[in-house]
Amino acid sequence: MVSPRYTVQPTTIESALELIRKYNIPGPRYTSYPTAPQFSADVDRTALLDEIAADNRDPARALSLYFHLPFCESLCWYCGCNTVITRRRSSAGEYVDLLCQELALTAPLVNTARPVTQLHFGGGTPTFLPPAEIDRLGQAIHSVFKFSPDAEISVEIDPRRLTKEHVEAYRRLGCNRASLGVQDTNPEVQIAIHRWQPLAQTAQAITWLREAGYQSVSVDLIYGLPLQTPESFAKTLEEIIALNPDRLAVFSYAHVPWLKPAQKIFDDRAQLPSTEAKLAMLTLATTALTAAGYVHIGMDHFARPDDELAVAHAEGTLYRNFQGYTTRAGASLYGFGMSSISQTDGSFRQNHKDLEAYQKALTAGELPLERGFLLSSEDKNRRAVVMDIMCRSRVDFTTLSRRLGFDVGEAYATEIATLTDLAADGLIKTDAEGFEITPMGELFRRIIAMRFDEYLSRGPRKFSKTV
Ligand code: SF4
Repeated sequence: MVSPRYTVQPTTIESALELIRKYNIPGPRYTSYPTAPQFSADVDRTALLDEIAADNRDPARALSLYFHLPFCESLCWYCGCNTVITRRRSSAGEYVDLLCQELALTAPLVNTARPVTQLHFGGGTPTFLPPAEIDRLGQAIHSVFKFSPDAEISVEIDPRRLTKEHVEAYRRLGCNRASLGVQDTNPEVQIAIHRWQPLAQTAQAITWLREAGYQSVSVDLIYGLPLQTPESFAKTLEEIIALNPDRLAVFSYAHVPWLKPAQKIFDDRAQLPSTEAKLAMLTLATTALTAAGYVHIGMDHFARPDDELAVAHAEGTLYRNFQGYTTRAGASLYGFGMSSISQTDGSFRQNHKDLEAYQKALTAGELPLERGFLLSSEDKNRRAVVMDIMCRSRVDFTTLSRRLGFDVGEAYATEIATLTDLAADGLIKTDAEGFEITPMGELFRRIIAMRFDEYLSRGPRKFSKTV
């Protein structure tokens, strides 16, 4: 049964549905601009290294690190991550050896006098690594990089594969934030997605993390999964709110079976909720989380009002990177591990997505680079506009013009003119200085950003639906 507190207003749903039917086209999630499909194996590698060297001469740019730990014991059928499914425990030690080699090859390229302000362990399942390997990896990282005292160090946790020793090992490494994969607490949904996770396991993980001194615990949920209904999702929300996480991410399930063949198992449409049901779930999440005191940060993120993400949102200093929303803007990102992405102000580069190719490059003493991208000044200008659309409630052309050194309203007059339909439908409110994204427009940030994406007109790309 839906809790009366979380009842959705039918008129809001009906008008939102009409807009979704009109605007729900596939599009990027804009964790970067240009987006990853633009990266190319033909990138000029010498120019890429020059760009990294130039970036390292800028002492003002801090460092952000990402380590991709790809192993999972079993595949969740909805999964969109780059994973390696195995139960072979020795894989962990072999992989940490590779990460140490990659650190050794990368260190000479980086000005390590710059402080690390952010480090994230993603996966896969970072707790696939036994505690001794977590310690070994931590020592290798700390022997190369210096951390700022307030660095945000976070790890993705799978409560099903967690022990207290894992929690303590990542804490020893410096982790002060954790995000827990939950997705849905309903047993039938969990069976349908091949991820059995009793609520008690999630609660135990949160208790261990708080006892170990993690400052922030975040929970990830997904709506749009097989067998989910607004009623079942309302219960999931109630159960998770009762655990009192500091942040929540409520993602829309991205159905991309052409990229993730395991998702074909859901192709029986009777299993997947309708667009109407998905919208009801999203509305429920927004209503329930706001009623419980969380601030809606943007798109799919919610945080307690005193959480630094909510503070950055209020102050207009929020930024977006490959891990989602962040308060650490302007840092150069160095990614380690298969498929990880690195970013300087003027470039992107991505490691091999295949474990064997990643290993082969490192064994040959080479950086495991698969593809990359060098940004033109036009790309950087458009990135500033796209990031403002994704991160702020107001896009101000005057402020942007001051920042970028040219008249944004004039330079992007054609793109701005295409916003008329969005304004007429109440998704944005325009004025002489820019536009505001309305509460209804919150759902359509990707659609608004797409109007400024120069690459979308250059050829077909397959993305998930925007809503
Ligand atoms: S645990 Fe996470 S990364 Fe691994 S298969 Fe499940 S969803 Fe994917």
